[in-house]
Amino acid sequence: MNLIGEHTDYSEGFVLPIAIDLACFVAAASPGAAPGQVRLYSEELQRGSEMAASGIPNARPAGAWTDYVVGVAQQLARSGREVKSCDLLIHSTVPVGAGLSSSAALEVSAALALGAGSMDKMELARLCQRAENEFVGLPCGIMDQFVSIFGRENAAILIDCRTLEHRAVPLPENVAIIAVNSMVKHELGSSAYRERVAECAQAVRFIQGSHAGVKTLRDATLGMLDAAMGEVAMRRARHVISEDNRVLAFADAAGDLKRMGELFVASHRSLQHDYEVSCVELDFLVDTALGIPGVYGARMTGGGFGGCTVNLVDPAAVGAFEREIAVRYKAEYGIDPKVFECRPSAGAGPVS
Ligand code: ADP
Ligand code: MG
Repeated sequence: MNLIGEHTDYSEGFVLPIAIDLACFVAAASPGAAPGQVRLYSEELQRGSEMAASGIPNARPAGAWTDYVVGVAQQLARSGREVKSCDLLIHSTVPVGAGLSSSAALEVSAALALGAGSMDKMELARLCQRAENEFVGLPCGIMDQFVSIFGRENAAILIDCRTLEHRAVPLPENVAIIAVNSMVKHELGSSAYRERVAECAQAVRFIQGSHAGVKTLRDATLGMLDAAMGEVAMRRARHVISEDNRVLAFADAAGDLKRMGELFVASHRSLQHDYEVSCVELDFLVDTALGIPGVYGARMTGGGFGGCTVNLVDPAAVGAFEREIAVRYKAEYGIDPKVFECRPSAGAGPVS
């Protein structure tokens, strides 16, 4: 779950996610029961698929959930690790398509089940990102895969998405991190994601006209924005630049919950108005949360157009918050949201 730094990773900016106490589990039997085959089964989708292990290096995307796994297997094969016959059973507690990176959880756990446990962690994060970029076809940044691997207990991870330098940012004990799943997912999501990636590139090209050293929006400042670049490009760039600043300010704010909450709200407003990746349900959840006692801040998290909000809540107020937000959302949209506390947890690894 990303605490702050939304839609900044693909501009080589800063992000501050946590790994949460939900997970994708992949059990592997190797060799699999079907000679020469790699078989997958997802308990959530109750669907399976199989392909010849020898076909993985040249496999083509199927446009299905299996692409996340086959894409990772292909990247492993290309990095010189042979993928042999196996049966993979997938079970995930991460809600799918809710902005909590179920796709990265699947990629990373599948990679580990396929024998990538001995691989350098940074290399593994890059490999899983490449699988999603090149095989699934989503030009995502590296945040999701990175934090799925590098997550720490009781801390968020401040990641510089350019250098991949990272450090743990301990979170204050006197605050609860509550996710509210709007249970909606608007179709716009992945096309808008690509559109935003392109709009950022367009803003960069304009800025380069007067500031040749700007490689990505990471290098730009608010002072470089110019109405001549076009109103939309300007707002997109303003979001990314100001969001990078908010991430660093949030990491510095340490235990100052009031300040952390303000930065959350500013991040949401920027995503809502400048980046335009929110939706009415997320805005309602944020606005409603801010009227509930004990809430320091609220914002959408993940790519947007549905999925979850993340809320910083006084631990003593959590019970009342969870009830109130659920009742108000149900009254407005007729949907029961899923509300749950998230604990910053360790990243992926073997379980027995
Ligand atoms: P998010 O990463 O925010 O959850 P994405 O759209 O990036 O949303 O990834 C969701 C996709 O990942 C699903 O549509 C599905 O293809 C795949 N996926 C995630 N978890 C599972 C699972 N447990 N079983 C099968 N496919 C899964
Ligand atoms: Mg994803």
